[in-house]
Amino acid sequence: MRVWNRIWAKINQQPPFDNESQRTVVLLRCVYLVLVVYYIVFFFVLGSYCWMYDRSFRISWVAIISEVSTLALLWLSYRQRISTNLKLYVAAELLWLAGFVYLFGWDCGAQQIMFVLLVLVYFSFYDALLQKAAFTILLFLFRFALFSYTKWHDPFSRLPDMLSLVLQVWSSMSFFTLMGIICGFFSSNIESADKKLVLYNQRLREQASTDPLTGLWNRRTMRIYLNSNMEQNPKMAFSVCMGDIDLFKRVNDTYGHDCGDAVLKWLSERMKNKVEGKGQICRWGGEEFLMYFPEQNGDEVQQLLMEFLLDLDRTPFRWKEETIHISMTFGVEEYDFRSDADALIKGADEKLYIGKERGRDQVVF
Ligand code: GH3
Ligand code: MG
Ligand code: MG
Repeated sequence: MRVWNRIWAKINQQPPFDNESQRTVVLLRCVYLVLVVYYIVFFFVLGSYCWMYDRSFRISWVAIISEVSTLALLWLSYRQRISTNLKLYVAAELLWLAGFVYLFGWDCGAQQIMFVLLVLVYFSFYDALLQKAAFTILLFLFRFALFSYTKWHDPFSRLPDMLSLVLQVWSSMSFFTLMGIICGFFSSNIESADKKLVLYNQRLREQASTDPLTGLWNRRTMRIYLNSNMEQNPKMAFSVCMGDIDLFKRVNDTYGHDCGDAVLKWLSERMKNKVEGKGQICRWGGEEFLMYFPEQNGDEVQQLLMEFLLDLDRTPFRWKEETIHISMTFGVEEYDFRSDADALIKGADEKLYIGKERGRDQVVF
């Protein structure tokens, strides 16, 4: 397990130059490792055939050269620009392919590596679409040229059918593995980018709809909610209530703005808990809160808020060593099945000011 972790850390090592894609370098190293295994098996298959045939390792040098050049590319991926490394890899692979087809003909399946190259080049560079298109055309021409060559020329060494088949199967397996790695790599990247985008959008939406200090809905969200509820259920009874902290300026002036903020948070939490399950609350402005109670009449809301004021009276706010008594005034307005949302809010606001004039710490309905 520890060995595996160390290998994985080595594969994941940062690209040698700044501003290069970590993803591409890791992918290239994975590709090289698969190829290292591919060429080892290749060497043994070809080698044993040659040995049985004429007691020599005549043609296994192809595999040895390929193995060494793949290891060199892997080594260079820790020292070289990734774009250069990728180009070198593509060139090496095409050379290997040309050599292989020249030596053993078309039937060994090596040309399938071209699809791996194509996918790799398309996924690894995000710019220069024209270059990618040019690469595709060149690859096609190269393939066509190789194919034509094998039509007119016999291979340097014709492998027996059985060996061709073994190499064909082994190449297919290896190249499918490579394609799987490349596609899996990039699709997981796209997926994770997609997830990040969804989360980011969600956070943006939350930020746009809530008040940063208290975490309550902001005025805009409440307006949208209220209007859409009234539109969808025009026959539903409901009440709205405007609340305002009493003599809040004095709290700020006496204990500081930080204390004022803490009071706003503390009160918001308490009001939210009180209203939960019965209605919605928003921070309407500085120290004003608007509440919406569907299917509740004014008396029920008044009752609930009087309980809340009683709770507030019993449990004062604590700030450092100080005990601060906080009270609020509320104005409640019931839906009369005629007025629009603005008129109802204005009505609640007027009642709130009546409450302030009457001495604060009360609910006016
Ligand atoms: P009243 O009982 O008549 O409502 O008196 P009041 O002092 O609460 O009313 P006033 O409108 O004079 O003062 C409101 C204060 O609320 C003034 C403003 O500085 C403070 N305030 C508004 N928003 C915030 C905030 O986000 N943080 C803090 N700390 N204070 C705020
Ligand atoms: Mg106030
Ligand atoms: Mg006010």
